[in-house]
Amino acid sequence: MQAVTLLGSTGSIGVSTLNVLAQHPEKYSVYALTANRSVDSMFEQCQQFSPSIAVMLDDTSAEQLSQKLRAAGSETEVLSGDKALVDVAESDKADYVMAAIVGAAGLLPTLAAARAGKHILLANKEALVMSGGLFMKEVEANGATLLPVDSEHNAIWQCLPVGNQQQHHFEGKGVRRIILTASGGPFRDYNLADLENVTPEQAVAHPNWSMGKKISVDSATMMNKGLEVIEAHWLFGLAAEQIEVLLHRQSIIHSMVDYVDGSVLAQMGNPDMRTPIANALAWPNRIDSGVAPLDLATVGRLDFSVADHHHFPCLALAYQALEAGGTSTAILNAANEIAVEAFLNKHIRFTQIAKVIEKVLAEITANKGDTLEQVLADDLQARELALDIIA
Ligand code: NAD
Ligand code: MG
Repeated sequence: MQAVTLLGSTGSIGVSTLNVLAQHPEKYSVYALTANRSVDSMFEQCQQFSPSIAVMLDDTSAEQLSQKLRAAGSETEVLSGDKALVDVAESDKADYVMAAIVGAAGLLPTLAAARAGKHILLANKEALVMSGGLFMKEVEANGATLLPVDSEHNAIWQCLPVGNQQQHHFEGKGVRRIILTASGGPFRDYNLADLENVTPEQAVAHPNWSMGKKISVDSATMMNKGLEVIEAHWLFGLAAEQIEVLLHRQSIIHSMVDYVDGSVLAQMGNPDMRTPIANALAWPNRIDSGVAPLDLATVGRLDFSVADHHHFPCLALAYQALEAGGTSTAILNAANEIAVEAFLNKHIRFTQIAKVIEKVLAEITANKGDTLEQVLADDLQARELALDIIA
């Protein structure tokens, strides 16, 4: 029996994770659930999964949750704040930590799980984008196991040489490059002029996947794929030029590994995050995920095309930040979080997201990013500058 801490349990990945866990009560128990402010969802999750601890972001939400749970006779202890998040991520009582908080807020508890040598299921790609070097060092130094949940990286993981997935370097193993597939999001068929007037409602309506708002906008700008290129660089130790992005509108092939002998291994499946979640949970074994079997005859065809950096400037910015190195990727991520939020609140247009990020990257001098303090300082500076530019 493995005890799981689920960071971000009320989100899209959190709910899918609980769905998989509920199918295997003999294998997994829930030690802790955490959420931002969604008291009602958290109450229902506590009723169903009886975690030892539930963590809410602020005291008010925690108090509301606590009252509801006490009235229902629940024994779940309710905590609040950043320190409680770190505590449940590093607790001896949890074996597995699912990192599914969105954005930079997930960094500290995910780092804590790495320091505590946990089996980490990583959905929160922003943690690696911000501080991949520091994060991977902690994973290695503390014997943590890092399993990618992002569907592309989970696909790559499955296609890499067996027994080598965790070594983060593949010299002598014949890996030529990896190919990350991208659906292209809701605006893949728009021309550049049409993009000027798209709304947040259109941007969050992804054609293939149902996800949280932030990552849905990231998918529409393709910053999501840019963040995934950076994520892949750290997870698999590959240089930027060994990581390619390919448009594939059906989202059936989740990514591929190209070997020097010309073999290309792909992982396929229906676009449902329960597959990579179940894969990461059970690795190196396999368990049912509840996902319907892939019916290729119904899918009919698989299309591929080049991901055009002119159409998707955020993708180009992400490659540029990765090449620049150091805290450039943390600056990119922070500016993106602010710009996406501003777009969702209708303060800037869709096409201005890339422009804000580009300006922030140009104006801030990146550091080496050797310490967490440096990363967090540059993250903060980038947020403030992005807010200024937007204002
Ligand atoms: P979401 O917005 O649906 O859920 C986010 C979760 O984090 C919620 O439980 C929320 O309560 C919690 N949260 C938000 N802000 C917080 C804060 N400041 N402090 C503490 N908790 C906070 O997001 P999602 O779509 O589930 O994505 C989660 C992560 O997984 C993201 O990093 C995303 O890039 C990654 N991811 C998601 C998908 C997907 O299909 N949704 C796929 C691949 C990767
Ligand atoms: Mg992905």
